Amino acid sequence: MYTKLVTKGLLALTSLTVALCLTHLAPLSAQAANKKIVLIAGPPSHGVLQHEHKAGCLLIEHCLQGIQGVDILVQTGGWPEDPGVLEGADAVVIFCTGGNAHLAIQEGRLEQLKPLMDQGAGFGCLHYGVEVPKEKGGQAFLDWMGGYFETHWSVNPHWTAEFKSFPDHPISRGVKPFAVNDEWYFHMRFPEGMQGVTPILSAVAPPETMERGDGPHSGNPAVREAVAKGLPQHVAWAYERPNGGRGFGFTGLHNHLNWRQPDFRKVILNAILWLAGAEVPTQGVDCPLDDQLILSNLDEKRGRLPLDILRDARKNESYISPVRANP
Ligand SMILES: [Zn+2]
Repeated sequence: MYTKLVTKGLLALTSLTVALCLTHLAPLSAQAANKKIVLIAGPPSHGVLQHEHKAGCLLIEHCLQGIQGVDILVQTGGWPEDPGVLEGADAVVIFCTGGNAHLAIQEGRLEQLKPLMDQGAGFGCLHYGVEVPKEKGGQAFLDWMGGYFETHWSVNPHWTAEFKSFPDHPISRGVKPFAVNDEWYFHMRFPEGMQGVTPILSAVAPPETMERGDGPHSGNPAVREAVAKGLPQHVAWAYERPNGGRGFGFTGLHNHLNWRQPDFRKVILNAILWLAGAEVPTQGVDCPLDDQLILSNLDEKRGRLPLDILRDARKNESYISPVRANP
């Protein structure tokens, strides 16, 4: 009797387990594949600890590679020669020199990206990567990323931006007020009426940002008027295309040491997950980084060692400033 009951119980348990497995298997097999995120780092540029394309992309990889549901692929040194790198990408993020030298506008590359964008892949650019000539890539960047640096309209001063509040958006998850000195480009070219754009990082640019004369990157009457009015300037934004594809532009990252600031990097990391359609954790992506990691994979510039660079950087420049006032 006892044995029978146990057997019966076991049988019931077994069928229950089978049933559970089956119900578990169904959603698993129906689950979407991992999101493929391709980061493209341009060749070396600028001075020590500036425009660190490769090191920056490898830090992003370090922080996101353990997250469930995403595969990170970093292409260093320029555009991938193997078309397979971009194939099936859910998001493409480019950190490179912009303007005429932008990796994405060289022969045939916008055409290579277009089918991906038509399928709804995300498109993001970091720092100088947000700039392309108006007549070459400008419209594509506007369509895919929802904004770009347009010469004689946008500007690139160095200033300390204080970010005191954030929109209700997955990219803002867990981000606390912070202030960082960077070459924050602003007065981007956005779509008419900001259609589809959500500003993520906005700050009032101080009058000093307008000290330079007019020029393709330094000033123009329209931006002077906006700064004089004290209008908030958007230096990072999210974009949703009519086809559901997503865009993200981030104008900071001139200064590599800004990766030290946890909220600064959280915005970038959250955004890249969001861009690919992956889930952003409730408190955002937490990724502790120490200087040893931050100073890894730097481009060779003037043949100097990371420790020398760090020592001089501390002396010469203040990268991270405290928030001066409560939000
Ligand atoms: Zn720069």
